Amino acid sequence: MHCPFCAFADTRVVDSRLADEGGTVRRRRECPQCNQRFTTFERAELALPMVVKTDGRRESFNEDKLQRGLTRALSKRPVATDQVDSALRLIQRRLRERGEREVPARLIGELVMEALRGLDPVAYVRFASVYRRFEDVDAFSAEIARLKEGPHPDQQQVPGKGRSGAD
Ligand SMILES: [Zn+2]
Repeated sequence: MHCPFCAFADTRVVDSRLADEGGTVRRRRECPQCNQRFTTFERAELALPMVVKTDGRRESFNEDKLQRGLTRALSKRPVATDQVDSALRLIQRRLRERGEREVPARLIGELVMEALRGLDPVAYVRFASVYRRFEDVDAFSAEIARLKEGPHPDQQQVPGKGRSGAD
């Protein structure tokens, strides 16, 4: 790495140790030209991806927005705040694990639906009915009927393509 003081093209690592309980590598470096020492930190890139909306606009991932969506769907439902927090963390972990710089907004909607389905069926239907914009009463009834059948092996996965890509 270049020296930030004199811009010399190479610097030497004189010390290297773990910090943040192993989450970070801290290195002391020395420039052989100007003899300045400086510190660098190396940590995993865990940034959340940008969200690509249906109209092609990009926006930063917004945890507050995600939380509001979950909370709205779970309004007056018997679900503990801890469970909502866990769902929030899980959704963000799934997004980070993808390691992509951008994800479609639709994917976040699908992850939310998946989380809500495990938390509370009423909240799930609330969210899904708005999110998927059920085209008619039949589609909505079919979803309710599917829920009443209870968990099905193929329902454990991320649901298939959403009918629309609302955010
Ligand atoms: Zn230097």
